[in-house]
Amino acid sequence: MTTEMTEELRDEAREIQDDLVALRRTLHQWPELGNHLPVTREQVLGALDGLPLELTFSCLSPVDGLHCGQCNKCAERRRAFSEAGIDALTRYAVPLTTSAMDRR
Ligand SMILES: [Zn+2]
Repeated sequence: MTTEMTEELRDEAREIQDDLVALRRTLHQWPELGNHLPVTREQVLGALDGLPLELTFSCLSPVDGLHCGQCNKCAERRRAFSEAGIDALTRYAVPLTTSAMDRR
């Protein structure tokens, strides 16, 4: 990454900093316990709406720059995007199997 790219990334991060601080403060207004977080879920999904999530990467064992489609992180990704109703357009090197989706 060049210095110019680093500075551009830093500038873009500064542009969204106030929005992220506001989101954090909103989330903290409704503290939820345990793993059932309906208010947090809605707030986070709202903040993610419209973002290019297909550009994110979460695989533990990439294959030729693609998500492997077989590790537990690929399974979590597929499940989370499916439950959220998000079409993430993720390209997998190997299609995710049902058994891989069951591993968490
Ligand atoms: Zn993977």
